[in-house]
Amino acid sequence: MNFSDSEIVASLMIDEGFSMTHKPDDANIIFLNTCAIRENAEQRVRTRLRELQSLKNSNPDLVVGMLGCMAERLKESLLEQEKLVDLVAGPDAYRDLPKLVDQTLNGERSINVLLSMEETYADISPFRLSGNGISAFITIMRGCDNMCSFCVVPFTRGRERSRSPESILQECQEAMERGYKEITLLGQNVDSYLWFGGGPKKDFQKQNPEVQKNAVRFSNLLQKVAQTFPKLRIRFTTSHPRDFTDDVLEIMASYPNICPYIHLPVQSGSTRILQIMNRGYSREWYLERISAIRKHLPHAAISTDIIAGFCTETIQDHQDTLSLMKEVSFDYAYMFKYSERPKTLAERRFQDDVPDGVKTARLQQIIELQQSLSHQSNQRDIGKIFEVLVEGPSKRSETKFCGRTPQNKMVVFNKTTGLEKGQYVHVEITHSTSATLLGHVINTIPKS
Ligand code: SAH
Ligand code: SF4
Repeated sequence: MNFSDSEIVASLMIDEGFSMTHKPDDANIIFLNTCAIRENAEQRVRTRLRELQSLKNSNPDLVVGMLGCMAERLKESLLEQEKLVDLVAGPDAYRDLPKLVDQTLNGERSINVLLSMEETYADISPFRLSGNGISAFITIMRGCDNMCSFCVVPFTRGRERSRSPESILQECQEAMERGYKEITLLGQNVDSYLWFGGGPKKDFQKQNPEVQKNAVRFSNLLQKVAQTFPKLRIRFTTSHPRDFTDDVLEIMASYPNICPYIHLPVQSGSTRILQIMNRGYSREWYLERISAIRKHLPHAAISTDIIAGFCTETIQDHQDTLSLMKEVSFDYAYMFKYSERPKTLAERRFQDDVPDGVKTARLQQIIELQQSLSHQSNQRDIGKIFEVLVEGPSKRSETKFCGRTPQNKMVVFNKTTGLEKGQYVHVEITHSTSATLLGHVINTIPKS
């Protein structure tokens, strides 16, 4: 999401006559687009600020701006705590950046952390910062109304609002014209996407019945994108287990250009913990959603997010998480230690009572289990043939190329003559590690 937002910021600044540089020494302005999801994300931002001090020493006119969720969370106090920071702008204030920059160039420190009910940056054509030129992110909604008790996002990104389908289709068109082959539709909870003419989702119930009837839901949007762009590979993230419905699975199963890959964060395998996390589903509900995926899309890959050591988590709750992981056999997982965030429901209501050492040990067990599950998942792919979108040279070897399967697994294979990034190839998998598949090209697939 931040990556996508940075592309909006770049576009807004370029429209004002600024240009990009990859050399910090050459920059007149440096923006840090920050994350506040866990404490260590914020610590990394603080470290990066320390690193910028020497640049500021050698160029006192350098403007340092803090954008994103940490800026939104800390507001004015950031200007008090960090003398290096000249400008603070939250996720809904980017249109104001040129004005804020002007203020700082006049010697004032500037700030805008207003959250909006409407802002979706729908009309901004993002300046693509993507390294591979193949894969583009397209934001379809902003904010989140969910209030999971551990999560700071509703406080830093504001109320949930969706972007118009027309502007999304337009952005897909532009990405395709610029040579992109794959798009990822982005939102904190894509299944909650709802277009009824603009404004916050909370106002949907106030609309007249006609407007409600004609509203565009996520499955409708996904179908429109898949139908309009049969040559684009389509992905989306993130799905929420409570809102993930069969109509989305039916659309996925009917359009071969929608990748059979679903990121469905579970957070915990214990219904009691899920309840106090305010996730709105139980262990059984989650497992039922997994069965629905397997039924509609037997070849789909499934990944998840897991939090270790949430408030009051017992050894039994932790065992429930491990057993759920085994039962689902996730292909991949992002795994975190619980980090208490100021203002959240969990901070106000529960004790962060699992000792850090216990959190670390549980996280380690979760990571080890996932490594073996990922390894097994990759082993099962040996001998299979996948359609791979070539992303370019592999990081580790000059003589190899890499690309992703529809299931989002990275494959490394031999560079064959004439093969270029952006092409599709059939690759037969011959070996695997827990992180990567290895294989050889069977043939290229003609697709313009
Ligand atoms: N909207 C997405 C997730 C956004 S945050 C969703 O609901 O799935 C990405 C992940 O960070 C979450 O899924 C969760 O696993 C993790 N996370 C969020 N807040 C956290 C916290 N306070 N401590 C540890 N991990 C957290
Ligand atoms: Fe945070 Fe929950 Fe919203 Fe995801 S759905 S962003 S975890 S509040």
